[in-house]
Amino acid sequence: MSIGHILLVEDEPAIVASLRPALDASGYAVTVARDGAEAIAGTALDDADVILLDLGLPDMDGKAVIDAIRTRYLTPIIVISARRQEAEKIAALDRGADDYVDKPFVLRELLARIRAAMRRRQVQAQPPLAVARRFIEGELEIDFATREVRLAGDPVKLSPKEYNLLRELAENVGQVVTQRRLLAAGWGKSGADPQYLRVYMGMLRQKLEANPSMPALLVTEPGVGYRLVARD
Ligand code: CA
Repeated sequence: MSIGHILLVEDEPAIVASLRPALDASGYAVTVARDGAEAIAGTALDDADVILLDLGLPDMDGKAVIDAIRTRYLTPIIVISARRQEAEKIAALDRGADDYVDKPFVLRELLARIRAAMRRRQVQAQPPLAVARRFIEGELEIDFATREVRLAGDPVKLSPKEYNLLRELAENVGQVVTQRRLLAAGWGKSGADPQYLRVYMGMLRQKLEANPSMPALLVTEPGVGYRLVARD
């Protein structure tokens, strides 16, 4: 039995040839669509737990595929994108993609993104009462009811903005959160100056990272946003 069904939308034979057996060996059932039309038309969409989507498809823009999927499904979409195409990644995230991995990607990283997406899907599927009021990741502990934050058991004092940023990242643990969303969470408007965000993320790192200049928990996704790294 598979641990999840992945719809891989990718036209490059070399990537399909390497990715399919790797995902298979990790326990996933994989269906491949070679272009956008096949992805949208196929019944594979109905039972996909995660969709891996190449943005550069032969028949249509990957972003249009996201639009088409999102009219009917909330299935997590992880975009496979080229490096240094930050605008494309942000546009895909704004259109409803959940995350992205850069090509050429490291399999371990891709698997971690898939697990994070599946965990998040399971949490969303639970009734509201069952949603955890407490977040624990490694030594970091957040009580969402009391807004208390602890690190290795010791209380950490955060300003309201720092707390709101951390909460937004924790609620999306393992996934990238765009600057826009973080600005909205911290300042109430997504158009606030991204420079503020850098300053506040720096302060959060001072309080939460063992080595704030080499962050291991709150990592920067250059040009896109930040990610609270999930431990496996
Ligand atoms: Ca392609």
